[in-house]
Amino acid sequence: YLSKSGGGTGFVGGALTQLLRSRGHEVTHVSRRPGPDRISWDELSRSGLRPCDAVVNLAGENVLNPLRRWDDAFRRVVIASRVETTKTLAKAIAEAERPPRAWVLVTGVGYYRPSPTAEYTEESPGGDFDFFSRLVSAWEAAAKIPGDGTRQVVVRSGVVLGKGGGAISQMLWPFRLGLGGPVGSGLQPFPWIHVRDVAGIVCHALETEGVRGVLNGVSPASSGTSNADFTRELGSALGRPALLPLPGWAVRGVFGAERAVMLLEGQRVAPKRTLESGYCFVYPDLPSALQDIVS
Ligand code: NDP
Repeated sequence: YLSKSGGGTGFVGGALTQLLRSRGHEVTHVSRRPGPDRISWDELSRSGLRPCDAVVNLAGENVLNPLRRWDDAFRRVVIASRVETTKTLAKAIAEAERPPRAWVLVTGVGYYRPSPTAEYTEESPGGDFDFFSRLVSAWEAAAKIPGDGTRQVVVRSGVVLGKGGGAISQMLWPFRLGLGGPVGSGLQPFPWIHVRDVAGIVCHALETEGVRGVLNGVSPASSGTSNADFTRELGSALGRPALLPLPGWAVRGVFGAERAVMLLEGQRVAPKRTLESGYCFVYPDLPSALQDIVS
């Protein structure tokens, strides 16, 4: 079994590559940087897709890079790194002599409108109310290929928690020092998933005939988790107090108002189709996920 993955060198890509290889699959990354088992985006555009069984796209500039100002130039990079890479892979699949059996794109729950009360499933509306929701719409539209020779799957991921990457890597040190606390009011929903489970859902989607369409990539417990719940659990997993709130104005100051929404607001999301498709979560609840991460 051969698969190709754009963005495979990143945080989620590392976990997915490890999981796929442990299951006997061969993996090639599509990357901006040269290296073993890699091809470049140019090479892919020029020479097309060599025969493989599946394609995954995980490429995307890190939106929450605190060192990058949220201006038009950075917004364009954030969009292009997702939409253009997805278009390149979709075109290569559409033109392939022997198209892959499955094509999986990972996007985000930013598709759904942040709300303290509404609970969303894969069938819920969204995708047209702010920068991030429109980004997800454009990103998912770029993945569409005509015909049904290749199964198409979109995983809408929540905040990915795991060792050595993602949002939690920036949070861990203040929390270890006892300087952690809720973000803003702390009442906002906190849609989360362990990195092993995002990788697990992608792998399940690749290997399971019949899985197609949107799957929410959040843990089953996540729809009942607020930012304050997450903060309390992380503090307790580390054996540290986590009482120092990070005020909304400070978050808006660092990230800009538009980007700060990602931290100060959230969506309650249920992985309805993901569970119905037969996926079994490795880390369904927060204490087990956090225990793995802080250990
Ligand atoms: P990473 O930040 O680890 O980056 C993934 C890869 O994207 C990188 O390894 C890099 O590959 C490639 N990349 C980065 N910037 C660019 C760019 N400007 N142009 C082209 N390629 C670029 O991401 P994650 O693994 O955390 O996330 C994977 C995907 O899942 C992303 O699309 C992200 O938006 C999405 N997602 C992630 C969430 C999270 O909490 N982590 C939450 C929801 C969605 P290389 O250097 O080899 O070219």
